[in-house]
Amino acid sequence: MTKLSERVLSMEESVTLKAAAKAKQLASQGRDILPLTLGQPDFVTPQNIQEAAIAAITDGRASFYTQASGLPELKEAVGTYFEQFYGYTISPNQVVAGTGAKFILYAFFMTVINPLDEVIIPTPYWVSYADQIKMAEGVPVFVDATQENHFKVTVEQLEAARTTKTKVLLLNSPSNPTGMVYTREELQAIGDWAVAHDILILADDIYGRLVYNGTTFTPISSLSEAIKKQTIVINGVSKTYAMTGWRVGFAVGDSEIIAGMSKIISQTTSNLTTVSQYAAIEALTGSQDTVETMRQAFEERLNTIYPLLCEVPGFEVVKPQGAFYFFPNVTKAMEMKGYTNVTDFTDAILEETGVALVTGEGFGAPENVRLSYATDLDTLKEAVSRLKAFMEAE
Ligand code: PMP
Ligand code: GLU
Repeated sequence: MTKLSERVLSMEESVTLKAAAKAKQLASQGRDILPLTLGQPDFVTPQNIQEAAIAAITDGRASFYTQASGLPELKEAVGTYFEQFYGYTISPNQVVAGTGAKFILYAFFMTVINPLDEVIIPTPYWVSYADQIKMAEGVPVFVDATQENHFKVTVEQLEAARTTKTKVLLLNSPSNPTGMVYTREELQAIGDWAVAHDILILADDIYGRLVYNGTTFTPISSLSEAIKKQTIVINGVSKTYAMTGWRVGFAVGDSEIIAGMSKIISQTTSNLTTVSQYAAIEALTGSQDTVETMRQAFEERLNTIYPLLCEVPGFEVVKPQGAFYFFPNVTKAMEMKGYTNVTDFTDAILEETGVALVTGEGFGAPENVRLSYATDLDTLKEAVSRLKAFMEAE
């Protein structure tokens, strides 16, 4: 008999991490692999942030545990950041920091979900949401944001999905994997709907600073007092400051929920690694120049690669407005090559071209593949040219 729990047996491994690990393994065997798998900036963490962390190590501040919910100075830094980028003031008891936005999301679900509570997730969705909700014994309810509607859901669709068990609506704009960004008006309508039905809004704003070609990011929590009260914002430093390895995420919102999340942290990780907290303080309050430099690099890659990707036979691409992913529909491409399953199709591309993509299946999108453009232009151009050659070959 298996020793594993039903919980683990019914869970999926993260497809993004799995695809990245497979690409790494093949590369280590000497294969010519172009990894477009992970949503991870290829830049190293800016110098000022590294130096702040080194100082915290050498003067001893990094040696100790901190409060479970994070250092008071970090909460203050998040407060300063919110005043600057969200345009409103928060108090320290509305902030909790933890080991990456991923763990902060988990702590949120563990804090608010009772068995069989429903969480509405617009699809395509980032891979970890559904499994985290299931770990908390909740039920993910998927609402289809179609490619024709630019990967956005409407209030009518949300209303059709609402039941007496609906507890949370999850919004991720800019979106991983689609790169779509909701407008202010769309968010206002969705926010008002959630308030009217007393549904919590979980706003995963982690890509908020990464928008391109004049697109603006509007935080849903900034739209009205009532919406703000109803919203827990998830954010972090991984994407904005090229700090994926430091594992810093935070949540901002209702102090009772924040206290619940802190309790989960106190019984699991104790606190976010202390040195990372000092690095995050510098990231959030220090010079923001490097953020703009990196944003411009992503924008250039988007604008250079998008037209090339559109030329790949059978790939149908909506131009993304934010984050750093392309999410083409490959229904026609699969037909052309005789595949009926997108994971098999992705595996065949890896096998034959060395281009590592992520299957859409883990994102609730069995007709799409994800390409991360958080890598250098030469790699991206070569990858797209191999995809084109693969599709053009008889
Ligand atoms: N939310 C989304 C939408 C993401 O793409 C990621 C990427 N890892 C996360 C949350 C978690 O980020 P991290 O744990 O690195 O802070
Ligand atoms: N969020 C990134 C991605 O989607 C990193 C991997 C992960 O955390 O799943 O690729």
